[in-house]
Amino acid sequence: MAKLELSGIRKSFGATEVLKGIDLTVEHGEFVAFVGPSGCGKSTLLRLICGLDEITAGQMAIDGELVNDVPPAKRGIAMVFQSYALYPHMSVGDNMGYALRLAGTPREEIRARVEKAAKVLRIDSYLDRKPRQLSGGQRQRVAIGRAIVREPRIFLFDEPLSNLDASLRVEMRIEIARMKDRLGTTMVYVTHDQIEAMTLADKIVVLNAGRVEQVGSPLALYNTPQNRFVAGFIGSPR
Ligand code: ADP
Ligand code: MG
Repeated sequence: MAKLELSGIRKSFGATEVLKGIDLTVEHGEFVAFVGPSGCGKSTLLRLICGLDEITAGQMAIDGELVNDVPPAKRGIAMVFQSYALYPHMSVGDNMGYALRLAGTPREEIRARVEKAAKVLRIDSYLDRKPRQLSGGQRQRVAIGRAIVREPRIFLFDEPLSNLDASLRVEMRIEIARMKDRLGTTMVYVTHDQIEAMTLADKIVVLNAGRVEQVGSPLALYNTPQNRFVAGFIGSPR
């Protein structure tokens, strides 16, 4: 688990400023949801946090250490995307352990971590199967499992459930809630599904056009939105 601090984060692509000064703290073990309309900068912010893209201005620290210039592999962050690709010819277990194998982790250690992660996600009886023998929800769990085995300090999720149908989404939401309780890792979760944000998050960050509109508990945002934008976004079903 780790604490993440962002201060004055700006990001421009050419002449276009997409993030206009983001100040935010994510506490140890906290589950924070980023919500906001399409194009407001949610994915860009996640990419900056995990180091896939460079910050234009501002500072980012993990556990008090400035990480602006720390390469992605050294940040201890794992990201789960909306579209995930499993290797069809590899077993579930090998899919989950693949990144560790590339990193030269000893075989026994890989096995132990894969089994542990599989238990958390309740796919431990499927480790020898091939991805095609799994349901959509099980495959999604394998994709999440690949992130868990890396034992990151921080998990980032970018709309991980938005490609799933409604009933699967409910199932996976419950799965992510269990994962949060069992791992206790700091998590940042981007979603445009307000129910996901309201049910999963300790804290919601409402973003709009590259700025933070409001930060607060789900209940606080729901009951005391600071402006019409937040009220419209959190209050009305989408
Ligand atoms: P969200 O995830 O909230 O939908 P994004 O972070 O993907 O939004 O995008 C925010 C804005 O930044 C959009 O206007 C998008 O077109 C722009 N953008 C994102 N990535 C790039 C890039 N690599 N080059 C230029 N513009 C980009
Ligand atoms: Mg996005």
